[in-house]
Amino acid sequence: MKGTHFLTTSRAKTLSLATVFRMSDEEAETYFQGLRWADTDGAPACPACGGLDAYSFRRPTGALQFQCKACKKQFSITSGTLFAAHKAPLRAYLACIAVAMNEVKGKSALALSRDLGMSYKAVWVLLHKVREAMAAEMKGRMVGGEGQVVETDGAYFGGHVRPANLRKDRVDRRFRKNQNGKRKVVVIVRERGGETLPGVFRSEAQALGFIKARVRKDTLVQADEATSWDALHARFEMKRINHQEAYSFDGACTNWAESFFARMRRGEMGHNHHVAGPYLLRYAQEAAWREDNRRVDNGSQVRRVATLALASGPSVDFCGYYQRHRQA
Ligand SMILES: [Zn+2]
Repeated sequence: MKGTHFLTTSRAKTLSLATVFRMSDEEAETYFQGLRWADTDGAPACPACGGLDAYSFRRPTGALQFQCKACKKQFSITSGTLFAAHKAPLRAYLACIAVAMNEVKGKSALALSRDLGMSYKAVWVLLHKVREAMAAEMKGRMVGGEGQVVETDGAYFGGHVRPANLRKDRVDRRFRKNQNGKRKVVVIVRERGGETLPGVFRSEAQALGFIKARVRKDTLVQADEATSWDALHARFEMKRINHQEAYSFDGACTNWAESFFARMRRGEMGHNHHVAGPYLLRYAQEAAWREDNRRVDNGSQVRRVATLALASGPSVDFCGYYQRHRQA
């Protein structure tokens, strides 16, 4: 098949933004085909019956379609995946992923929509799908184990209150914010030299079940002095660090947890002005994925995310997003 060997070239391995922008639509399709149907070296396999014999044709819009010779069903490269029902050419999808992977702080949906000539909404949804793809890698993840150290820590996001002149207003506003549930805590478990897993809760105390379920027995767990973590002593060997007194004492520190939260805060101050809200978990999963893949080259990161997106089912977050918003 034309262009299949692109995947094995050094160009694909060090996929830069410039490379993506120079790609033709066909090259981007071939790239995605190679990732979706890796077993057949990019040759389409019917998602309905598994048939390997298909006609290819283009819709009047230019979209590449296949028809299975066995069951006659039609499908595309993204049918049944996170990128299903895409409106933009796949090259734009690839560019979005490449931009998201190449820029350390990420790029705003607005700036990216200008660069790609796509609508702000389309790019915004696409960037969220990139996060959803990253999150797919964390499903059922366990960390730690015998001889391993896992750091756990929590940090609050959202519910920012502008300082009020009157103390009573201040208290009242905070109270209402809390009632609205806008202020949430991101709790992570992170294995030293290993993987990271975040969760979102109303309080650190409510994260205990998550920590117990996702950290393997016989793990040495390190946490700060917050009383929320006291209950973990019953299950894990614990080391505690008092940040007020010492940054690191007796080998007990939460540097790995802190580097994750530093990344979250950078995201908050950068393009994602509002990391809080309904997508806080997705932002946390993105930060975790970036931390875990920080030493992986850009090209491999793009490839990994695109592969995850094509291996995931249709979007959980944005299934019918446009429809719902059109009705509203
Ligand atoms: Zn078929």
